[in-house]
Amino acid sequence: MKVLLQFPEGLKQYALKHAKELESKGDEVFISASPTYGACDLAIDEAKKLGAEKLVHFGHSEFHKVDFNVEYVPYTIDANIDLLANIKAELAPYKKVGIVTTVQQVHQIEDIKRSLEAMGKEVFIGKPYGFAKKQGQILGCDIGSAASINKDVDCFLYFGGGLFHPLGAVYATTKPFLAMDPFGNKWMWLDSHREMQAKRKKAIIMRSIFAKKFGILVSKKNGQHNLNLAKVLKLRLEKDGNEAAILIGDTFDFESLDNMMEFDAFVNTACPRLATDDTERLRKPLLSANEAMELMAIRAQK
Ligand code: SF4
Repeated sequence: MKVLLQFPEGLKQYALKHAKELESKGDEVFISASPTYGACDLAIDEAKKLGAEKLVHFGHSEFHKVDFNVEYVPYTIDANIDLLANIKAELAPYKKVGIVTTVQQVHQIEDIKRSLEAMGKEVFIGKPYGFAKKQGQILGCDIGSAASINKDVDCFLYFGGGLFHPLGAVYATTKPFLAMDPFGNKWMWLDSHREMQAKRKKAIIMRSIFAKKFGILVSKKNGQHNLNLAKVLKLRLEKDGNEAAILIGDTFDFESLDNMMEFDAFVNTACPRLATDDTERLRKPLLSANEAMELMAIRAQK
């Protein structure tokens, strides 16, 4: 069978090994070299261009339905659950603990629960909104597993690698939020990021207050494509006397966007994390769709 393999950035280092394994079984194998960060970004166009019959996407579970033969190969890693003993003192003031993790650790969530229960905690595991598929699992854009139990818990514990995923959940919740990285045996409270994010949001709206020309980012990635929202935003911005244009791209290149100097501000409809995590990479303000609406509401009051 002719197959295309796709790996997120952290797993690209293993691409050749997997390709050779499949080749030895008789498959004709290609590897996507394009950047990818989630199952929202399936290399279906590349697979079709190659005449591949299947896309094998590593590192993520299914994000949304697509009209192509896709096999998902989540990369699970067994983390050392015993390390939770190291944060017993941190969790001591809290009785009800909500736990969240990523696809890499979600198979261990019951072990994490039992370990916390052994410390005397009442443990809560929430439901994702729909992009994530397992209870307790979060994505950068699906923090339902945290938000759905925010009212029930005294604090949250994220158990997994990196800070990209828990930060999304921190922004959407109000309770103390501890992140433990079992691979580095490190932990930190992330609550200060809520205030930083609120300040960022306020600053970005104020920097856009006199903007007249808006570029609305639309991604062609299959799980991020939101042209309808972009069209609504364009109409709304124009109704308020602005000029607006829809800008289509794949993985947006911020240097390239910086070259579009006619625009006073950009509005994001692609991966929602662009407008929370990447705003410093652009010279002009990058607003989320909600922030663009808030901007217009503020202007209407003046
Ligand atoms: S956070 Fe962004 S990159 Fe990650 S799955 Fe969601 S849309 Fe894709």
